[in-house]
Amino acid sequence: MALHRVTDRGGDAQDIYSTPLSREVLPKYQMPKEASDPRIAYALIHSELQLDGNSSQNLATFCSTWSEDEVHRLMNDCLDKNMIDKDEYPQTAEIESRCVHMLADLWNSPSGRDTMGCSTTGSSEAAMLGGLALKWRWRERRQAEGKPTDRPNLVCGPVQICWDKFARYFDVELRQIPLEPGATGIRPHQLREYVDENTIGVVAILGVTYTCDYEPVEEIAAELDAIMADTGLDVPVHVDAASGGFIAPFVQPELVWDFRIPRVASINTSGHKYGLAPLGVGWVVWRSADLLPEDLVFRVSYLGGDMPTFALNFSRPGGEIVAQYYLLLRLGREGYRMIQQTCAETAQALAEEIKTMGPFTLLYDGTGGLPAVSYTLTDPATAGFSLYDLSDELRRRGWQVPSYPLPANRQETVIQRVLVRHGISRDVISLLAEDIRRSLARLAGGTPSDEAREGFHH
Ligand SMILES: *Cc1c(COP(=O)(O)O)cnc(C)c1O
Repeated sequence: MALHRVTDRGGDAQDIYSTPLSREVLPKYQMPKEASDPRIAYALIHSELQLDGNSSQNLATFCSTWSEDEVHRLMNDCLDKNMIDKDEYPQTAEIESRCVHMLADLWNSPSGRDTMGCSTTGSSEAAMLGGLALKWRWRERRQAEGKPTDRPNLVCGPVQICWDKFARYFDVELRQIPLEPGATGIRPHQLREYVDENTIGVVAILGVTYTCDYEPVEEIAAELDAIMADTGLDVPVHVDAASGGFIAPFVQPELVWDFRIPRVASINTSGHKYGLAPLGVGWVVWRSADLLPEDLVFRVSYLGGDMPTFALNFSRPGGEIVAQYYLLLRLGREGYRMIQQTCAETAQALAEEIKTMGPFTLLYDGTGGLPAVSYTLTDPATAGFSLYDLSDELRRRGWQVPSYPLPANRQETVIQRVLVRHGISRDVISLLAEDIRRSLARLAGGTPSDEAREGFHH
């Protein structure tokens, strides 16, 4: 009976790869004229996507590449929820607000319940909002003093590109402090030379993108306290905790970097990095509501009243926010601690391996900052290969392990970095270590591909 029906409808029985759509190259420049069978269109796009890298071997990204089935289901439940429409989806709005308060509490906000904060599309949007609040407050202060407001600057170390964007898009001078020899971030004594009456704030990074080390937020704030005592300049700190905001509270709970420091005005994090949520969610939280100028806040209608919003976007999916809440609820502090601690231990085990391999010097060994390892070639001039060559060798086995130069003043140093995140097991890292050893042996014997090519010609 079933067979009869299938045969009747023709298309149902046909093999996907012998349908008209799959006998052609898929359209690239113009929409097709006719509609296609959804299963066939899906299958063809699905196979095209196989050409992307395998995210479980992507050791370059901080972002989530693994999620539980329940996350997929909640994302599916939320496909139609527009988070900006607070009136239509008040429960999504409520869940967003719960996440903000839980993060404020995790980061030791003195007034968790009336902290101000919101979700964003990631740390980049969160940085724009944090930076705008700094700029607005600086300007209000200067205007009240009858002083010029045309030359704002933001002081920072080796920041992620989002801060370059913030500075360019919102007309702020980015005063980037160059790295001292051997340093992986700002050293507090450097600040005095860079901050002045036009400084809207200092950005400290919890998890420097290049090396995965933390900048010393407490010492940075103490130096700014000293500067204030000497000069009267009161410069707030914004902590870019894109990665560290979901690591430090669990792996280094004794480290003081957050709202325990009075000078820390705001903090951002990426929910989709070590927050473990699917791609597309970040968070920014202000220590108290008064640090977010009223002027930047827009009100949208919400359950007959209105709700304050601060965002660069308007419509945006609610699923990532709901998934973030699910993860906070499902894992709890202990669940996050176990996951992040395991990642840290896996990174430290890799650091031990890297140490014994010979040609490397560790820059960061996975202890004290993010679950990651970064290293350089001890003697690039005599190694006979570069870290870029090693990245290429590893790529042949599917591993994505990036190599890149350090920022300003240390550009001559090329480093390699491996990130360990949820879903990357100790076993996977041991396989990577074996492949690094094998690649080193190949590189030491001259590139096999060159020999092979010579053999072919002669
Ligand atoms: C990843 C990262 C960002 C940007 O975050 P997105 O969530 O990708 O927008 C900003 N700052 C730091 C330190 C980062 O690591």
